Amino acid sequence: MRLYEHEAAQIFSDRGIPVPRFEVARSPTEARGAASRIGGPVVLKAMVLVGGRGKAGGVRRARTPAEAEKIASEMLGGEIRGEAVRALMVAEQVEVERELYLSIILERSEASHLLLASGEGGMEIEEIAAQRPESLARIAIDPLIGLRDYQLRRAIATLELAGDQARSFAEVAKRLYSIYRDYGCELAEINPLVVSRGGGLRALDAKMIIDDNAVKTLGLELGREEGTGLEAEARRLNFTYVELDGDIGIIGNGAGLTMATMDMVKLYGGRPANFLDIGGGASAETVYKAATLLLRNERVKIVLLNVLGGITRCDEVAAGIVKAMKEDGRGRRLVVRLVGTREEEGRRILRENGYEYLESMEEAARKAVEMASAPGGTA
Ligand code: GDP
Ligand code: MN
Repeated sequence: MRLYEHEAAQIFSDRGIPVPRFEVARSPTEARGAASRIGGPVVLKAMVLVGGRGKAGGVRRARTPAEAEKIASEMLGGEIRGEAVRALMVAEQVEVERELYLSIILERSEASHLLLASGEGGMEIEEIAAQRPESLARIAIDPLIGLRDYQLRRAIATLELAGDQARSFAEVAKRLYSIYRDYGCELAEINPLVVSRGGGLRALDAKMIIDDNAVKTLGLELGREEGTGLEAEARRLNFTYVELDGDIGIIGNGAGLTMATMDMVKLYGGRPANFLDIGGGASAETVYKAATLLLRNERVKIVLLNVLGGITRCDEVAAGIVKAMKEDGRGRRLVVRLVGTREEEGRRILRENGYEYLESMEEAARKAVEMASAPGGTA
């Protein structure tokens, strides 16, 4: 289960990770009140579970309480990537010198945890891994030993932090790891973790995905509206899934890449059936569940999978998608573009099971559109 940013930010704050002052507002008047209590410029953020809100208009700035009220009235009741905006987080605006990335994720295949840190914050982890691999420190944490000082020194060296900032970073990372462990997380992420104008570090975003069994064990009371249908089910599985009215089912990793895939399909005259982001580091099991969920949408004629493997391993993706497609009672067809970590192995799995793959996103999108518009469609 993914927590809302304000839920995760509250946990971070309780556990000593510095976060900007914030309040939750459910009406424009509440937003105005929150902004005046916080004092000074604020950021209004849509409390939705989809990522990449910044690029989708879900993070806006206001200088005064009156402006906060006005912007809140525009945001509340609207949608971000198909998800209704029912609440906003009103947060103190921070002056940013540098954006860093920090997360801890579960590495299922190796039964360990992985700390990921980069000096290129603000971008999604898959983009960082693909475009700025040299900026990324990947540190395996043995669950029996925990996070060690020499490992933190390695991350600090990669991020080129010194003095107080290096010390604060080590402190934040240790606290994030203890939250991750205590809450039974699959992911705890701060993106961006910023160096503010005054020099201190602050978590400007907070993301936690908690293992469903841990949710039950901890008896977390979050008063969540679960809803029904595939979208709600996807939410419980921690995917971002939004249903649209076309016939090309799209699966990508990372909000940016998934959006780009949809745009490409539209560019070639096709119609996306959905937006489905499996996120970073998906296992074969995750891909299988995502594809199975997608195939339950009757409108889907063709499945287009576009994965850029950074943290995500192409062999895991291939194994998961192959299993789901083979089980599809309607025999629908698959178009794949798969590049990155362990791509050779991933492609071998596809070939051996009779699936093709294309090198570029353009080719894959064009092929999917062609297949969807062919008479018979699914044959
Ligand atoms: P996301 O796009 O859903 O990950 O939402 P974020 O909460 O990470 O916000 C998106 C971007 O807005 C961040 O990467 C920051 O660059 C920027 N941002 C958010 N809050 C602040 C703030 O208080 N000050 C400044 N300067 N930038 C902010
Ligand atoms: Mn963010």
